[in-house]
Amino acid sequence: MKIINVYFPCYSGSSEYKIELGFLGNNILPDESVIVLGDMNFECDNNNAGFTQCSEVFSSAGIVCCDHLVRTNSECVTYCNTSLGQASLIDHIFVSRCIIDCVMNVDILDSGVNLSDHRPIAMDLLLRMSKHRGDQTPKSTSAQAKPLNWRWDKSDLCMYYEASREELSNITAPCEIVQCAYKCPKSMHLCNINQYYEDIVQALLVAANRSVVRIPTNSLKPYWNDYLDYLKPDSIFWYGMWLSAGRPASGTLFHIQRMCKAKCKHGIRQAMLQHERKI
Ligand SMILES: [Zn+2]
Repeated sequence: MKIINVYFPCYSGSSEYKIELGFLGNNILPDESVIVLGDMNFECDNNNAGFTQCSEVFSSAGIVCCDHLVRTNSECVTYCNTSLGQASLIDHIFVSRCIIDCVMNVDILDSGVNLSDHRPIAMDLLLRMSKHRGDQTPKSTSAQAKPLNWRWDKSDLCMYYEASREELSNITAPCEIVQCAYKCPKSMHLCNINQYYEDIVQALLVAANRSVVRIPTNSLKPYWNDYLDYLKPDSIFWYGMWLSAGRPASGTLFHIQRMCKAKCKHGIRQAMLQHERKI
């Protein structure tokens, strides 16, 4: 599986644009599963020259757009500049036709803590993997090994739920112990209970390895502090209030959500600067 993150400038008909597109096309091998995603600065519309140029390259590489899979309750836009009054769907995910059926969901993420005028797109893919793929992973040496944390908060719990269902369903329960008398002395039964316990723990570990993100300790936002913990929910709360009020373009809610977002943005900048000074 190859993931290619792209940024396309606004299409101007330049030869550089075509050269870069050709370079992208050359990097996609036949029968390869590829995801191309990013800020493409075009809407997928046949009247858009940027799109027609790209779709020529993408089609010949067997890559299709996932815009039609976006789940949305409100605006289907990824670029939103309220000051300029502009909104459009210009960030996209394209995938190889052979994995389009693995795409479970595509969502545009909108949140009070998003400080950009672009909204990120998230995609859930359900890929079948080798059961013993862990055995094929080269083991890192102790010098390279970094402590890893399970990040349940960054993982798809539904994927874990499905993986744990699959793994647990492979375990055969020792039915004979159901009939055990109180304080059953049979050592074979005690062994079976222990084995049953080990199997369950192992199955849950395999399920977690398949679906839960593990990242090095402190690799996420090491500058984060308690003050930001206070600002972030505030910004999310007031953004939610503003959204539920139908995104008013003026008035008290509009100003509160703008102010909370600005305070959060400023707080994050200050925390990052302080962190950099310490390094
Ligand atoms: Zn027994």
